[in-house]
Amino acid sequence: MGRTMDEQNSPVRVRFAPSPTGHFHIGGARTALFNWLYARHCAGTFILRIEDTDRSRSSDEFLHALLDGLRWLGLDWDEGPDVGGPCGPYRQSERGAIYDGYRHRLLDAGHAYERDGAVWFRVSSEPVRILDAVHGPVLRREEKDFVIVRSDGSPSFHFANVVDDLSMGISHVIRGEDHLSNSSKHVELYRALGAEPPRFAHIPLILKTSGPGKMSKRETGSLVDEYRARHFLSGALRNYLCLLGWSPKDDREILPLADIIQCFDLAGINRSNARFDEKKLAHVNREYLRRLPREEFLAHALPVLREGMGPERIGDGAYAASVLAICQEKVRGLEELPDFCGHFFLAVPCWEEGLRAKVLEESALRLEEFLAAVEGDCPFTPAGLESLVVELARAGGHGTGDYVHPLRFACSGQSVGPGLYALLATLGRERVLLRLRRFLGREIQDLDP
Ligand code: GLU
Repeated sequence: MGRTMDEQNSPVRVRFAPSPTGHFHIGGARTALFNWLYARHCAGTFILRIEDTDRSRSSDEFLHALLDGLRWLGLDWDEGPDVGGPCGPYRQSERGAIYDGYRHRLLDAGHAYERDGAVWFRVSSEPVRILDAVHGPVLRREEKDFVIVRSDGSPSFHFANVVDDLSMGISHVIRGEDHLSNSSKHVELYRALGAEPPRFAHIPLILKTSGPGKMSKRETGSLVDEYRARHFLSGALRNYLCLLGWSPKDDREILPLADIIQCFDLAGINRSNARFDEKKLAHVNREYLRRLPREEFLAHALPVLREGMGPERIGDGAYAASVLAICQEKVRGLEELPDFCGHFFLAVPCWEEGLRAKVLEESALRLEEFLAAVEGDCPFTPAGLESLVVELARAGGHGTGDYVHPLRFACSGQSVGPGLYALLATLGRERVLLRLRRFLGREIQDLDP
């Protein structure tokens, strides 16, 4: 049953082996990703194996959420539940007969014995040397025999894990550092089964954004679904997760997936813990948004805007598309869109009264001047509007900012947003006239939309 030399030279076979006992965690996603990247880098095989021997804690709901999360991240598996493969079944709960066979082999060879209804593995007294791709050589000795089959007949985690890795021909075990201490048990089991253990790579823990301690599943921001619900781009999250414990030789942070696959190797994994940095993730996400082709940006952004503002306000999409086009460069995340540009879809913006009074007190005259010019026949393009403001400022001995800031507030109710001239041109003359007149307190029933 041990792998032959030929099989050891066979292509890389790696697996992600989650237990569906909770929501899909960032740490799990990172482990899946590193395995997937390594498989793709080596033109090997990525296997998904479900470690659901703990029936009371595993649920189909968690399993489906997990598969869905992996798909969203673009991590497709070559073998696993629902795609099948030569080493199935890929759910431990369906592999009882396989564990029985291995249990007999260990009992027959004297590597295991029965006591109190359970089957125990007899550890050797020799220290075990693990050559870990991240940690280097690690020497550990197992002091105590351990259970491989519980008295109710169910396999223990260590036993099922090793039997599966062996019978699925896993070449590299890439998993969280919290499993490093289990590896000596696993190596002993491999040896007892007459097989060479796989190569190990125990990847660093993920620490929470601030303070000591690892990011637990209860931490806000620790679940993949949270980012999905907040409309993060899956490619951005994937790119960011790569950086948690790995970096390319050229230290680039934002890389196309093809480049990541090309550069990814186990030697590039750091030994030190990785800190989860929400700000950096937001930055990567923003860079991804900016780089999206316009059509793709619209495909992501329009539904978010519709959901946030109500589809009836957003209309057929042509105006919304022109609004979104000028927001792509500026918005920090899709989830901000309704706040960032929702005013475009209201009759007039909501002005904060205190600020409105202040802007009126300081700038009403300049807004009146601008309004009068727009009521005339100023060309309503970004360039035309800019020349107008420059001219008004020059004539009145002001800076352009003395117009830009109050105009932005009067026309959008905000102090940040797309470039002012693009904003005005996109609103269009009628909306700008209405907003300015309302802001200046004029009665203008007839222009109400
Ligand atoms: N089911 C284990 C876990 O989720 C897998 C450990 C391994 O990858 O070997 O931690």
